Amino acid sequence: MPNTAAALDLLLLPTWLVPVEPAGVVLKEHGVGIRDGRIVFIGPRSAALKLNATEIRELPDMLLSPGLINAHGHAAMTLFRGLADDLPLMTWLENHIWPAEAKWVDEDFVRDGTDLAIAEQIKGGITCFSDMYFFPKIASERVHNSGIRAQIAIPILDFPIPGAGTADEAIRQGVELFGDFKHHERIKITFGPHAPYTVGDENLEKIRMIAEELDASIHMHVHETAFEVQQSVEQRGERPLARLARLGLLGPRFQAVHMTQISEEDLALLVESNSSVIHCPESNLKLASGFCPVERLWQAGVNVAVGTDGAASNNDLDLLGETRTAALLAKAVAGSATALDAHRALRMATLNGARALGIEAETGSLEIGKAADMVAFDLSGLAQQPVYDPVSQLIYATGRDCVKHLWVAGKQLLDDRRLTRLDEQQLGTVARAWGQRISGRTES
Ligand SMILES: [Zn+2]
Repeated sequence: MPNTAAALDLLLLPTWLVPVEPAGVVLKEHGVGIRDGRIVFIGPRSAALKLNATEIRELPDMLLSPGLINAHGHAAMTLFRGLADDLPLMTWLENHIWPAEAKWVDEDFVRDGTDLAIAEQIKGGITCFSDMYFFPKIASERVHNSGIRAQIAIPILDFPIPGAGTADEAIRQGVELFGDFKHHERIKITFGPHAPYTVGDENLEKIRMIAEELDASIHMHVHETAFEVQQSVEQRGERPLARLARLGLLGPRFQAVHMTQISEEDLALLVESNSSVIHCPESNLKLASGFCPVERLWQAGVNVAVGTDGAASNNDLDLLGETRTAALLAKAVAGSATALDAHRALRMATLNGARALGIEAETGSLEIGKAADMVAFDLSGLAQQPVYDPVSQLIYATGRDCVKHLWVAGKQLLDDRRLTRLDEQQLGTVARAWGQRISGRTES
């Protein structure tokens, strides 16, 4: 029984409450009580109203769910959104993205691009995102200031990158940052070897040792394309995932991003090691990279989360839209209309993301004791009528423009569609100025 004598900071009374855990449940006439940033009460409206709350908020025609978790992205790349489109992955990377990064990416770029990404994500119902980009210290500071939650993966490649001349330097910076943010309530530092084709065995072994020592996660692009797998087989005589397994990288703290190519052996490795897969369907579709077999993974017991990837290859950070794409694509790939139903799709975008990022004890579902990371979707619009199953409506008939309120650790970051901590107009002005410099319309 709740302690009725203790005050709640906030009591939310939505029309529909979708806690995600237990699975498949939609509660009506229920309330959620928050104190000191945590969920301390979930129960019937009548019991909720007997509690002493500082603020009571009715959320009519709204679905309250855990905040969405964008499990893979490159936040500051929002400033390259639309710079080079409709190109094959390697042409896009080698002829456009890498040269643009070499020319433009510095601390200011990462600061402004990350702020833009954070704002877009909060407005889209995302309470936590994973980032893998240059100058991770700057990104961590922007996350700290904005109030959102994030995993910051330290990018590590065998060649020099903006902010780190060598892989050793990147690893050293990562260890330092890990120490700095070890006790941060909302930020988790992990190691981000870019991909099997950009990081050799020696550096991967170093990363494995350090991650083990620190109990840190590893976030990596793996099997993004058939070409990547084929090249590894030709050059090294083994598939990239098998190589990572041989090097000891796989495990519950390993996050394999993309995985569009999965053999029976790969599936067995993922299952045995309890690694997570992060599915980025729109980036895979746009770059014609292939299809991650979500239903097959799910049925085998692999934890599958969802991510948008960077805005340069998507081109938005719309996780609700991404989840809809994932739900539709899963059915096409599995050849079954029952694959990845709406409730499981929402679970993939929330609790599975938290599990992949190793923060499921803290967030990902609305459960007593967890941080109050929540989003209220407004389902009152004509396009959502009539509402038979609000979760089905959310996944198949609702866009991110229906995100009305959002809280992270009990702090409201979006109030009636308005950002409470970030200046939307200023962010737009800064982004447009970067666009003009990058496209050569003004002197840099
Ligand atoms: Zn990526």
